[in-house]
Amino acid sequence: MCLCVLRLYWHLKRMIMKNVLLFLFVCLVTMAKAQIVQDSDGIKEIFDAALKNGKSYEMLTELCTKIGPRLSGSPGAAAAVEWSRHMMEKYDFDSVWLQPVMVPHWVRGEKEIARVLNSKKMGMVNLTICALGGSPGTGPSGISSQVIEVKNFDELKQLGSKVQGKIIFFNRPMDPTKISTFAAYGGAVDQRGTGAVEAAKLGASAVIVRSMGVNLEDYPHTGGVRYSSEVKKIPAVAVSTKHAELLSQLLKEEKDLQVYLETHCEILDDAPSSNVIGQINGSEFKNEIIDIGGHLDSWDLAQGAHDDGAGVVQSIEVLRLFKQLGIKPKRTIRAVMFMNEENGLRGGTKYAETAKAKNENHIVAIESDEGGFTPRGFTMTATDLVKNKIKSWKPLFEPYGLTDFDHPGGGADIGPLGALGTPMIGYLPDSQRYFDYHHTPEDTIDKVSPRELELGAAAMASLVFLIDRYSLK
Ligand SMILES: [Zn+2]
Repeated sequence: MCLCVLRLYWHLKRMIMKNVLLFLFVCLVTMAKAQIVQDSDGIKEIFDAALKNGKSYEMLTELCTKIGPRLSGSPGAAAAVEWSRHMMEKYDFDSVWLQPVMVPHWVRGEKEIARVLNSKKMGMVNLTICALGGSPGTGPSGISSQVIEVKNFDELKQLGSKVQGKIIFFNRPMDPTKISTFAAYGGAVDQRGTGAVEAAKLGASAVIVRSMGVNLEDYPHTGGVRYSSEVKKIPAVAVSTKHAELLSQLLKEEKDLQVYLETHCEILDDAPSSNVIGQINGSEFKNEIIDIGGHLDSWDLAQGAHDDGAGVVQSIEVLRLFKQLGIKPKRTIRAVMFMNEENGLRGGTKYAETAKAKNENHIVAIESDEGGFTPRGFTMTATDLVKNKIKSWKPLFEPYGLTDFDHPGGGADIGPLGALGTPMIGYLPDSQRYFDYHHTPEDTIDKVSPRELELGAAAMASLVFLIDRYSLK
């Protein structure tokens, strides 16, 4: 009898335990499901707001058409600083301030000239070029010399003393078989970045670099040259891809082509400028900063619509969407308009130095600097823990076409923060058309799709929404 009671007791106890466990399990699953529903509802609200009533395109139109080119140190850059400050004040961010920084000041001067002087086949041939950023000018009397084509620095070095006094023509195209055009750019841009220094080491008088564009176009792409204080600075120009092909074709038949180059650029003293910063204060963890930004400067030849007006307005828009939707972030969300990404990175460097000096806790830095095209995903440079956390949110982004979370990346401006250990995330849009416009007069507002731009802002706001909610620990 006693044994039966005992058995019954144990049986009931096991049943109760089993049911309690089952109940707890069901509760947890329900809570997780509710969380996912809440997250996806929140993200849908953000996308709906951006697509119905987003302000990114309106802001970008103003920045591109009322201000336009804004190279560091120029009146356009100064106007863009004031414009960004005004915009963030207008949208009622909790605080908005300028962070002063000294920037390089390079001016292009009068329109450049390049011509082939002695083609037997075509006579005198004008080439479409522009001076590269940071290049010294040739002076009004120009430079005339024989031109030699190379594809890379090994070919250049093999020429040895033959380089002396010549104009070196770097003509390695961006690899068209790379699906990411940024990868193609990465494989070719050394010619623009350090071609002048490498050629000057061997005594060249100037360099002509094939433009960093995938297509055949008749406009040149400018961009920065990295000179060295130990090597003589020689003039550097970019030639359009179409004329790079023409020059190469002529050189195949006529080895002794002479080219005349005339540029009027000047390197002036460093000029005062600023990063522009605005933030919404966190309600619980004010000292944990989620940083989101783009760069305010552009090249002098461009409106800088995709590079990087898009990143600037999207970053402001992230905070504006939070305000519009009444989302009160737990953590501080800060939008940073970096100055001088194109020819110095002084803004990004200054920002990180200041963050370090103030012992600020940036839990993540996000940058949009790959154009205002259709969102595809996010790149990341962070610990596996952080990357896995962000990847776990992928199902929430898939309905909006963001599926690529697998590549390393971040952004030039947030690089110095990354070097201090801050996780870096880059907004990753479709890359196919970026290098049609990059650093050219074609980078104008009409090349931006309003819808694609707003989708990007919504994607960035959604990521910030999730990071704010769950942190990255
Ligand atoms: Zn850029």
